Amino acid sequence: MRYIDTKTLKPHQLLVFTDFAASLNLVAGETANCATARHAVCDNFVALHSRRDVVVNVKNKTFVHSVCECDIWHFFGDSMSKGKKNDHVIHAACLDDVVRTYQETSNVAITEVIVWTDNCGGQYKCNQNFYKIATAADRLQGVEVKHRFAQKYCFKGVWDGAGMVVKHKIRSDEIACTGRYPDAITCYKELKVNIAEPKNKKDWDKWEQEKDPKILDKTDFVTSKRYFGFATEDKVEFKRLEKEGYSHIVFTDRVNIPTMDVIKGTQMLHSIAGDPSSKEVSTDGQHDSYSLIVGQMPCACQVCRGEITDQKCPYEHIRKERRIRVSEKVPRQQKEGGNVRQPPNPANEAMYDELGIKLRVDKVTVKELQAQLRERNLPFSGSKSTLAARLTLFFKRFDEHPGERPLATDYIRIDEEEDDSNKGDDLEDAVSNEE
Ligand SMILES: [Zn+2]
Repeated sequence: MRYIDTKTLKPHQLLVFTDFAASLNLVAGETANCATARHAVCDNFVALHSRRDVVVNVKNKTFVHSVCECDIWHFFGDSMSKGKKNDHVIHAACLDDVVRTYQETSNVAITEVIVWTDNCGGQYKCNQNFYKIATAADRLQGVEVKHRFAQKYCFKGVWDGAGMVVKHKIRSDEIACTGRYPDAITCYKELKVNIAEPKNKKDWDKWEQEKDPKILDKTDFVTSKRYFGFATEDKVEFKRLEKEGYSHIVFTDRVNIPTMDVIKGTQMLHSIAGDPSSKEVSTDGQHDSYSLIVGQMPCACQVCRGEITDQKCPYEHIRKERRIRVSEKVPRQQKEGGNVRQPPNPANEAMYDELGIKLRVDKVTVKELQAQLRERNLPFSGSKSTLAARLTLFFKRFDEHPGERPLATDYIRIDEEEDDSNKGDDLEDAVSNEE
């Protein structure tokens, strides 16, 4: 499959293989006492593009040799502890930057991106990433992203080697004391200069132009160019680095991570593709929906590659391909109020005001209510509105039947009526208690 994708690459396609390298352990060659080593995340992308034919004459025989460009991308990100943060957020942000770069530089418009990864759940096989695939067209000028997951245990290739180059350079510099890489930003700034040119780079471009037979040695995974990027979740740092003219600085927004509902049987899926023409705009502008085409196997038959149009894919029954509608899911926290403050309930506010007059205080607080309830030997736990309702009930009974106390059943009723919508009040109180 990957081989077919590589060989049938078309000018409008970008083929990306990606994986995170193991976290970089940034230990100094010579460590001072108390020095703690930091870690950096390194996300590597191998991008193949611009496939074309070169015609060469060797001893009066004509050879048509197909070549493409193969670029290697390294994105660094800070991570204080090992293994943290190499996740879908970094992957999605970096991929966008890679695609955007080719859209800006390529002669042919890039309209299709094929991404190959392993099955890692936290990085690629998760709803957050699926949602990014569905909405890729919005961010990247209508591009179609096809994400393909390698079958287990056989996802090794050049992309693993790509990470080694970086690791090796850092290690050898540290040991020889010729360079120090304390954090991810230094890795980015230094390596971008030090190993930008691929080692032993040959004059492929020149040979191609001159139709030199040496071009026949150029294989698909010969590195053409190396790119370096830096991923940060700090918006201020991001803005500053961009202003300073650094390229491929990526902002990883960890506050707003859109997600969607879980797809049934996610683990079985090995192919996820977006459909740029599927977007349906909702009337409120907040629930736009998109189509995702999911399947248990990716397919590269001639039909699926678009080379035959009057037939159906012969493997459909194996792939179990289906089209699903997805839209952004409002995070639980926001939906239920969570830490978002709710507008005060007018009925409660009126009740507090009334109690305030009765108790002769300017503002009714939870503390005040608890003290009043305790004084009257009444239960004093619950949210502010519950406490207030209890006290109100007490006063009401007392006014109607002087000397009589409310019945226990009346209090139970109040407690049952207590619901989550009152929780916003507690927050307000937490603030007033501090005063
Ligand atoms: Zn097919």
